[in-house]
Amino acid sequence: MAFACQSGGPPEGIRAERVVMVSYDSVGADVAWQWIEDGTASSPDGFRGLAENGLSAERLRPVDPTLTAVQHISLVTGREASGTGVVSNSFRVPETPITEWVSGFSASSQAKPLWVAAREHGLKVATLMWPGADGQAPDRMGDFGATWPGPAVSPSEIFDFSPETAETTGEVPSNDGLAPLMWRLTIDLGTSSPAEVETLVALVDANPNGTPRYDTVAVRLSDAIDWSYAGEMEWLEISFDAQGPGDTRPRRYGAWCKVLYIDRMTGDLRFYRGGANRLTAYPASFEDRLAEAIGAWPGEADRKVLDWWLDLDEGIDLDTFVEQGRRLDRYLDRMATWVLTEEEADLVLVYHSAVDVYLHSALVTDELQWAFSPGRAIAGREGLKRLGRSVDESIASMWRYLDPARDALVVVSDHGQLPIFEVVNANRVLAGAGLLKTTDGGGPARLASDTPMVAVTSGATIHLYLNLEGREPGGVVPKNEVVEYLQRAARAFADLEAEGRPAVEKIFTREEAAAVGLNHQNSGDLVIFLAPGFAASGALDGPALEPSRYYGQHGFLAAHDEMCGMLFARGAGIKRKRMGEVQTPVVAPMVARWLGFEVSW
Ligand SMILES: [Zn+2]
Repeated sequence: MAFACQSGGPPEGIRAERVVMVSYDSVGADVAWQWIEDGTASSPDGFRGLAENGLSAERLRPVDPTLTAVQHISLVTGREASGTGVVSNSFRVPETPITEWVSGFSASSQAKPLWVAAREHGLKVATLMWPGADGQAPDRMGDFGATWPGPAVSPSEIFDFSPETAETTGEVPSNDGLAPLMWRLTIDLGTSSPAEVETLVALVDANPNGTPRYDTVAVRLSDAIDWSYAGEMEWLEISFDAQGPGDTRPRRYGAWCKVLYIDRMTGDLRFYRGGANRLTAYPASFEDRLAEAIGAWPGEADRKVLDWWLDLDEGIDLDTFVEQGRRLDRYLDRMATWVLTEEEADLVLVYHSAVDVYLHSALVTDELQWAFSPGRAIAGREGLKRLGRSVDESIASMWRYLDPARDALVVVSDHGQLPIFEVVNANRVLAGAGLLKTTDGGGPARLASDTPMVAVTSGATIHLYLNLEGREPGGVVPKNEVVEYLQRAARAFADLEAEGRPAVEKIFTREEAAAVGLNHQNSGDLVIFLAPGFAASGALDGPALEPSRYYGQHGFLAAHDEMCGMLFARGAGIKRKRMGEVQTPVVAPMVARWLGFEVSW
C-alpha cells in the first residue's frame, strides 16, 4: 500500500471495518489543544498522534443547551435538540402532571441514533457507558454494552479510628513490640442482601527496624481469610458478593479504600472507605464475562473533595480525588480494550466522565468563588493536567489495540466548562414572584399539583413550564393569561444579580428558542440561559440566590467558545486534515460514512 504513505495517512475513501468513538466529557476544545501545545499530552499515540496524523477540528461547536445528555444524543443522531426531543438533562414531556419530569439520559430520541442505524445495516454495535444508551429500550441499546450504574449501594465514609476503641488480632504480624490495633468497620448495604458486610481493619508496624512505629494497614472481610495491605496514602479494594436493590441475582461489588493518615506514634488512623458499586451491562451473559474480566465498577471521583476545599481536615484531598478519576479512566480503558480483543463489534461507543466530575468540583479560578485562593487555583490547574495526561493515556491505550489499516478511532467531547460562583434557585425565584406553589405538610417542601409554574434546571439551563389548562392534567393557568404569566416570570429572572453581575444571559419563549434549536414541545414555555458565573438549581427551599459550593458548570449558550467540545479522528478511511470550527451534528454522518453507510434521517 505504497500510496498510503504519500499523504502521511491511510488512503481516503476506504471504509473502516471498525470504528471506536470515545467521548471524554467536559474536555473543551481549547483545553485539548492546550494539552497538545504545552506537552501535557505527550504520548505519540495519544492526542499528538491524532492531531499529526488524522482529522482534527479547531472546535466542535455544541448544540444548545450544552448539557451531557443533549450533546451525546446529538453526536449519534446528527440533529439538534429540536430534532431529538432531548432538550436537557431533565425536562418535562407534554400531557404529564406538572410534578413529573424525565431524565435526558433515559429518554428515546426522535431521531435515529447511530447504534440503531448501524444495526439496520447489519453492523454489530457495543455501547460502553454512552449517555442515552441505557439499555432500557430497544432503541436505547446496541447488540451488547455496559450502562451507567446507579448510585453506590453504600455511599463512601471516612473513619477516624482511635487506639482507645481498638481490639487486637494475632493474625497480622507486627514488629518492635507494637501489638496490632484492630477495628470492625461495618458497610451498611441498606435493603440489599446481606444488609451489611463486616470488615476488619488492622494497624501494625510492618518494619522490623527496632523503632516501634505504626506504618501499615491490613484489611479483610470478617468472613474471609486473606488480608490486603496498604501503607499511608495507598489504596486497596474491599470486594464482596451481594444482591443489591434491583439485582436479580448476587453480583460482585467493590469499594476502593485509602489509608489517609496514620499517626505512627499513637496509632490513630484516618481511613476512607469508597462507595460500594457494581458493573451493570447487557445482556446478562456479557455482564458476567465483562465483570469477571475487569472487576467491579470503581465509581466516580468523590465529591467529598468539596468539603476539603473549605476545611483541610474534612473530606478527601485533591490528590485522592484525582486518583479516583484516573482509576475510572483505566477501568474504562480495560473495558474498551477487552471488548476490542474478546468481542465482535463494528462500532464501539465509549464514554469517560472523569474530567467532567473533576471540573465541577475543582474549576477554582475566580476570586468570587467560595473556595478560591491563589494556591487552590494552582492546585486545581495542576490536577486538571494530571487528568489531561490520563485522557491522553486512554487514547493511546485504545489506539494500540486498533489496526490503523482496518480501524478508525474518533475522539470527541460534549462541551467544556466555565467557573461559577453563584447558584440561582430557579423555583425559589418563581416562588418569590408568586408563580410557584409547594405543599406544606411539614418536612422538605414538595411541589403542589396546582402550582402555576415549575422550573426544571440542569447546569446553567432552565426550562420554565406553565401548568396550563387543557395541556397539563389538572392545569391551572388559563390560556388567556399565558402572556401575563410568562412576562411575570421573565421579569423575576431578568432582575437577578450577584456581585453586580446579571445572572441571566438570555430568555427565550419556546417559539423564539428556534434560534438555538430548541423549539420543541418538550422545551419550557420559557427557556433561560444563565450568564457565565451562575448555575441553576431546582431546589424548593432556600434563598433565590446563594454562593455556589461547587465550581465548574456547563449549559451556558453554545455561542461561548469555552462551551465547545473537541473532535479528532484517525485510522482507516480518514484523511489527514485540519478543519476549522465544525458543529456537533456533523459527527454522526461522518462516522456513518466511515462505517460504509449513509445516514438517511
Ligand atoms: Zn458532559
